[in-house]
Amino acid sequence: MTETSTRAPSGETTSARAVGAHAADAPLEALEVQRRAVGPKDVRIDIRFCGICHSDIHFTRGEWGDVPYPAVPGHEIAGVVAEVGREVTKFAPGDRVGVGCMVDSCRECENCQAGDEQYCIPGNTQTYGSTDRDGTITYGGYSDHVVVDEDFVLRIPDGLELDAAAPLLCAGVTTYSPLRHWEAGPGTRVAVVGLGGLGHLAVKIAKAMGAEVIVLSQSLRKKDDGLRLGADGYYATSDKATFKELRGSLDLIINTVSAGVDIGRILNLLKKDGTLVNVGAPPEPLPVPAFGLIMQRRSFAGSLIGSIRETQEMLDFCAEHGIAAEIEVIPASQVNEAWERVLKSDVRYRFVIDSSTL
Ligand code: NAP
Ligand code: ZN
Ligand code: ZN
Repeated sequence: MTETSTRAPSGETTSARAVGAHAADAPLEALEVQRRAVGPKDVRIDIRFCGICHSDIHFTRGEWGDVPYPAVPGHEIAGVVAEVGREVTKFAPGDRVGVGCMVDSCRECENCQAGDEQYCIPGNTQTYGSTDRDGTITYGGYSDHVVVDEDFVLRIPDGLELDAAAPLLCAGVTTYSPLRHWEAGPGTRVAVVGLGGLGHLAVKIAKAMGAEVIVLSQSLRKKDDGLRLGADGYYATSDKATFKELRGSLDLIINTVSAGVDIGRILNLLKKDGTLVNVGAPPEPLPVPAFGLIMQRRSFAGSLIGSIRETQEMLDFCAEHGIAAEIEVIPASQVNEAWERVLKSDVRYRFVIDSSTL
């Protein structure tokens, strides 16, 4: 393909400082990886911040399948352009940019042609753990720099701080995309299950779209935060009364839980024709009771991140509405502790690595 040959870098690879793991049960540690030289269509980005997504943990620990170790996770990248290839037209050194979960796709299949690169039929090239076009394995954003084709680089609007914008690149678009697709807005009643990284942004975004927003959390521990973020109601899934009170009352539910949940109980909260969209990605199956679906013509759906076009639209929407993540910025040396806190649902509401500490 001509595309491949024009992308082939001519110069030297560069060494990147990174944090990653050598095995599923190994802690994260400092390591070095090679980045390709800047090709004609490439942008080299000095990473300033990278969010910690629960997917980083699922992936690196081998919960989703085989991993090409060493693994360097991180797909909520915010930084500044350091260098551009000679054919790059969209970016210049100094621009504030982001990279999310994908760094390439086939660009030719039906879904790529329709602008849905995340659903690329042969499979998009993920920011980490994928085989790139040149045969190398991709390494993610727990690192000091990255080289990415300009078509998969996003512009971070001036109104957004780079640290709080970083989580928008995955958590933001993963919730924005289904909220738009299933038309959250004035007159719709939307519930968000799980108030973590994805969940807290889902609340802010759904509220900004004009929907009435309900949070379903394991307990009422974070209720004050949920209401401050914009929720109109906050319920505990540990309380049986929640499922009586909300039964048949919701148009749309976004499930962001990273573990198995009782889908049947949640489905019953939907009105006729309502949709439960699963974005949480636990490795185990999520059993769906047939009657939960057929009785009120309900739908159970899934959604994967969002397209590049949607990601830019989401960043612009967030800048316009003053939306960014609630973050705890950490030095790279605290990544293992941060992962443990994510696993305990003790995150308020996204950890972000300060890349200057690598
Ligand atoms: P997170 O920050 O850990 O949030 C998950 C939330 O789920 C927790 O804060 C907690 O909320 C709730 N939760 C956790 N364990 C639970 C359990 N055993 N039972 C009930 N609720 C539980 O994770 P995240 O980064 O938002 O990611 C969430 C999930 O989405 C992960 O599986 C991730 O891989 C997946 N994901 C999918 C996509 C996609 O494209 N579809 C993109 C990004 C991430 P409460 O404390 O409020 O209950
Ligand atoms: Zn993610
Ligand atoms: Zn494709």
